[in-house]
Amino acid sequence: MSATPAPTTLTVTGLTLTYPDGDDRVTALDRVDLTVRGGEIAAITGPSGSGKSSLLATVSTLVRPDSGRIMLETGGSSVDLARTSRREATSLRRERIGIVFQQPNLIPALTAVEQLEVMRRLGGHTILAPRLRRRIRSQAMDLLESVGLSGHENKRPAQLSGGQRQRVNIARALMHEPDLLVVDEPTSALDQERGAAIIDLILGVVHEHHAATLLVTHDRAHLHRMNAVHHMVDGRLTVGASTEIAA
Ligand code: ADP
Ligand code: MG
Repeated sequence: MSATPAPTTLTVTGLTLTYPDGDDRVTALDRVDLTVRGGEIAAITGPSGSGKSSLLATVSTLVRPDSGRIMLETGGSSVDLARTSRREATSLRRERIGIVFQQPNLIPALTAVEQLEVMRRLGGHTILAPRLRRRIRSQAMDLLESVGLSGHENKRPAQLSGGQRQRVNIARALMHEPDLLVVDEPTSALDQERGAAIIDLILGVVHEHHAATLLVTHDRAHLHRMNAVHHMVDGRLTVGASTEIAA
């Protein structure tokens, strides 16, 4: 599967988010600035409760910020993800944004290949022409192969290991070839070795699919392979040095 490199850029400026807290408000994001280009991974590290998940939820349109801009630019078109309507946000998440959470929320009744296929049916196409159905099946099979799951396509979540489920989760997020990929602590439920394999996999798919990627991780061993490493404390993001990815 090949994707044409699209000149995608995500530019976050002055992003602020507060949550209600009794009579007061708690600041989860405090004037965050961040830029990520297509094919690059920005790692986000920081203590628990510092705002990392809030940043991903906001950037992926699941949570609306108080203020700030989240510009997603791809080949001439530009959208502020902080200001979309609900309907627009839903279609952006179906078409342009890939989301991978800590725990893969797979559907128990579906096989691995069906978990991916269902992504292409969201939005109303209940009956698909056989030719389209075959194309979706073959795309799903290719993606499962690319995440190392050949031979497991027809297994349901209960028949897969934690690492395998996380691979399905990642492949599913790539089903619509997102311009923007957000990944929240994908290795937290895995042992060191399986975690390392998942990070390797993410590095590979980001380079192949050219998504601008935000990755929250505690896996310090891999930080030198990211394009940038940012540290979050109390909702404030400090920009780490940009480094070239080691070949
Ligand atoms: P992290 O992912 O770094 O652990 P979070 O983004 O989950 O941090 O949380 C940042 C802050 O926002 C914390 O103080 C947390 O308690 C608060 N918070 C997160 N989600 C909510 C919510 N839905 N409602 C209220 N407060 C929240
Ligand atoms: Mg979190």
